[in-house]
Amino acid sequence: MTKITKNGFRTHAKASERYVDVIFEYDDKFVLDTSVPIEYRRTGIDVSDEEIDDYLEKVYTDVAPSNWPEWYESQEQFWIDKPRAKITKPFFDALAKSFSWTCATCSLPKNPNFARRIQDLKEFGYTLATNTSRHCPVCKSNKMQLILLPIRRGGITGYETWSPDLREKIIRVLGSLDSFEAKVMRKEGLLPDHKFPEIRWDAETRRESLEHLTDDEIKADFQLLTNQRNQQKREVCRTCFQNGDRGRVYGVDFYYQGTSKWDVKIPKKGKDAVAGCVGCGWYDISTWRNELNKKLV
Ligand SMILES: [Zn+2]
Ligand SMILES: [Zn+2]
Repeated sequence: MTKITKNGFRTHAKASERYVDVIFEYDDKFVLDTSVPIEYRRTGIDVSDEEIDDYLEKVYTDVAPSNWPEWYESQEQFWIDKPRAKITKPFFDALAKSFSWTCATCSLPKNPNFARRIQDLKEFGYTLATNTSRHCPVCKSNKMQLILLPIRRGGITGYETWSPDLREKIIRVLGSLDSFEAKVMRKEGLLPDHKFPEIRWDAETRRESLEHLTDDEIKADFQLLTNQRNQQKREVCRTCFQNGDRGRVYGVDFYYQGTSKWDVKIPKKGKDAVAGCVGCGWYDISTWRNELNKKLV
């Protein structure tokens, strides 16, 4: 029996999401035709190509039909006193009915602010995938469709992910300061960014849980960026990892520690690699700016 069949990758550029379409087959011949998000930065999901197979194994186990009764039960508890529940819950109910593709046009509640409701569900920690153009047998044409996966709220990636509450906390502790813009921004537009880029992490770098981080730890490990800058940083850090060319914010050739080349004496991966990141603008933009300002006086 093939447990997991990968049917291909899709990107939803507007939402900065990426999915892998899969078919999961279980012992009792049950087949789940679904789509697994592998990139969803609002919650910190960013599964690299090398990790996809391991991640799909975990998802396969987590979404097994034998786990559904327990999943439904904990969701019931969760929704009891949610603020926006009256508007958002019907969307959840429609999607949780069967965990199959659900047409936004004919099978979800009519709501002009439909995208906001889906966003709410994601912020509550639910895992959803979108197909912007999938054939709907009722509408008889291609429509936007959504699918919900019965994964525990908050997700099960190997990354340090954050719950909506923790994300709020990180943003609060960092004063909603967009490090790139050096400006306090609306918290909705900001994402916690690990100063130390994930591409240089090893198995030991990840903490099991971030829920008990102190304010000082948050300030040491995170800065706030928009999704766009977060993506930009990711590319810069990938290039640096691959060829040793360190990043440059605004193209400015300034490093408060080290040079424009990665120091080859420093290990490329793992906790000790942080030493090679310190000094680069993208690693800690506020510190970099302060150090640069000192030069300008
Ligand atoms: Zn339809
Ligand atoms: Zn990160």
